[in-house]
Amino acid sequence: MTTTPTNAEPARIAALQDGLLAWYAANRRDLPWRQTRDPYKILLSEMMLQQTQVSRVLPRWLAWLERFPTLEALAAAPTADVLREWSGLGYNSRAIRLQAVARHVVGEFGGQMPRDVATLRSLPGIGDYTARAVACFAYEQDVPVLDTNVKRVLHRVLIGADAPKPLLNDRQLWALADEVVPLGRGYDWNQALMDFGSSICTARKPACLICPLRESCLAAPTIATALAEQQGTRRRTAKVGGAAIPFTSTARYFRGQTLRILGAQPGNAGVDLAALGAQVKADYTLTDQPWLYDLIATLHRDGLVTMHPAPAPAAPSAVREQQATYATDGETSDLPTPDLSGIRVSLPIG
Ligand code: SF4
Repeated sequence: MTTTPTNAEPARIAALQDGLLAWYAANRRDLPWRQTRDPYKILLSEMMLQQTQVSRVLPRWLAWLERFPTLEALAAAPTADVLREWSGLGYNSRAIRLQAVARHVVGEFGGQMPRDVATLRSLPGIGDYTARAVACFAYEQDVPVLDTNVKRVLHRVLIGADAPKPLLNDRQLWALADEVVPLGRGYDWNQALMDFGSSICTARKPACLICPLRESCLAAPTIATALAEQQGTRRRTAKVGGAAIPFTSTARYFRGQTLRILGAQPGNAGVDLAALGAQVKADYTLTDQPWLYDLIATLHRDGLVTMHPAPAPAAPSAVREQQATYATDGETSDLPTPDLSGIRVSLPIG
């Protein structure tokens, strides 16, 4: 039997290519970033979609392009305005990275987004995935675009079950992905893999029973057995579950709240740190000061806010130790709370 370097059988690869492209032809989603080849618009969609659902990205992608229609417009905008426009999407460092790319491309490449993967990869904040996504979705190059959905589908169909742990590491998966891109069909192929991985071959509940790739999928028998066993166990065992942490208690929520409040300040005037607490957290008290200081210092280090004066390098770790005591047992710490007087916070200036 002839095999590829990753031991995927050519006949199985061919069945995957045919089956998946046929599925995509019948099930493709009509998304606005699939109607453009503008590399800036593609990059924007990829960055927004990295940690946000398609339904939430759709209106925000359109609104963003109204506000910053070109790379040049984004590069020239004050960072505070960029963060305001991103507000609510979460993981705000993506907005900072996006603007850094825009400024770099305008400054170094005359506003023309590079075409080749290596140069795209060298842009600030652009990783393997995003570089290939732009090369494929903007310039229609036959390069693999490997996100978690794509990894899962390729592994299951061509290698076997990916649990309890994958049989290939990331480097091997990239090699496998590279081997299986159909010539001249890279664009559809990568879109198809992503759609299929997020709707049919999902991480926890793959729809093997209705899957068009079932006959050729190496993982299908193992997954069918595992799902059947799990169902039996569920019937026999009483449900035991831990209480979920509400989103409004997470650091991500408070980071978002802080940026929203700062974004609403006229002229990016900033807020006293001492006064910010009550706006960020409804039941804020003085014992929350170390937590607040740590939260803002982290945002400052991530480039999402400007803190005046900036936190000293040693200060965040000292505060974090204090916060750990506070967070774990809920008692008031006997460590001194930081003096917040005179500290002002704003969105980044520039
Ligand atoms: S048969 Fe199941 S595991 Fe295999 S590709 Fe289809 S959904 Fe995924």
